[in-house]
Amino acid sequence: MSKSPFINIVPKVKDNIIKDENFTNAKNSKLLLETKSTDEIISDSINKNFELKKKNLSLKDKELILKVIESYKKRINNQSLNEDEFVLTKHEINEFFSLENKNILRYVVYRYKYNIYPRLKILEEYPPNIQIEPTSMCNLRCIMCYQSDKSFSSKSAGFMGHMKPDLFKKVVDEIEGKIEGVTFASRGEPTLHKQLDEFLKYCEGKFLGLKLNTNATLLDEKKINLLLSSDLQTLVLSIDEKNKENYEKIRVNAKFEKIMQNLELLKNIREKKYKNSKVKIRISGVKINTDQSVDEMNQFYKEFADEIALVDYSPWESAYDNEVNNIQAECSELYRRIFVWQDGKVNPCDYDYKSTLSKWNANEHSIKKIWNSDYYNEIRRLHKLKERKKIEPCNRCIGT
Ligand code: SF4
Repeated sequence: MSKSPFINIVPKVKDNIIKDENFTNAKNSKLLLETKSTDEIISDSINKNFELKKKNLSLKDKELILKVIESYKKRINNQSLNEDEFVLTKHEINEFFSLENKNILRYVVYRYKYNIYPRLKILEEYPPNIQIEPTSMCNLRCIMCYQSDKSFSSKSAGFMGHMKPDLFKKVVDEIEGKIEGVTFASRGEPTLHKQLDEFLKYCEGKFLGLKLNTNATLLDEKKINLLLSSDLQTLVLSIDEKNKENYEKIRVNAKFEKIMQNLELLKNIREKKYKNSKVKIRISGVKINTDQSVDEMNQFYKEFADEIALVDYSPWESAYDNEVNNIQAECSELYRRIFVWQDGKVNPCDYDYKSTLSKWNANEHSIKKIWNSDYYNEIRRLHKLKERKKIEPCNRCIGT
């Protein structure tokens, strides 16, 4: 498959987190401009909550929160942090300030595990985050996406389908109270699922970091009401460009005018009915071209979103054809997230969108059993031994 000429970034490695320089607060909160006082406010809040609640915390949680408290002390005194120390990144600061007080320590523990466990290669019984794919189908064929690979997205290839509610509920029942971060996303467009409302309702009150990624092309009044009244922490709209021609070059099958119309509708409904909704809206694109700028995106889209971000590109559209590389770093995905596809297949990542790494199905096994299975550990072991080149497609992947 030949690469689109619009993709002019040739990434060597990919980090799986949102970097501060690729993130902007659309509303330009004053608080967030004064980094130092923000640190002090966060630190005070964690300390206060810790003093009040430490008797009821597990030993592990106590240990992690103390590490974060120490990290903030150092940061406020301009000292550098050790590898196992952690302060919130810009987008996490936004989330932090939207939390109810009772969830502050819970959030700090969750984000510590999300960021630091993959760095230190720490495993617990469950991953910090899970991606659940309501559907593998998509109405778009974006140039940097595996949907543009016909051997994946054509009906006859056998990868397309919608998740059954029973499977969805089985997974949610198992992970409630065990995993804080749940993302409705992955290979398809979640709003294509007819029972998305049932799925969202089923998650109510169960997760701290519930997120849904959508290309926003199919939003209408009903879907917007559903999303804004849900328990989502963040609604992520996948938009990478502010210019019609470029947007349509990237998001093949989408129409720029329709996106702008949907954003207007979303904004109007939000202002009218959901002024106090906790759902944060993030416009997030993939940086595939050097001309894309998060600041320009912010100028253009700030009235429609709370946050604007660009994430690193990985050549997903040709995962199995990319050249074998010499990367030896252990992959963070093996410690951070697990992916449940619509048919129950469970995979360590979505770079491997045809799930050649998968030996598991959530219909038959628990997430805990899969995450801790011998084969999962064998993949981790090879990565640790710097032998990821022995695994397809890790040998072609730039994820670290
Ligand atoms: S293909 Fe391998 S290296 Fe790449 S993200 Fe997946 S598990 Fe990690």
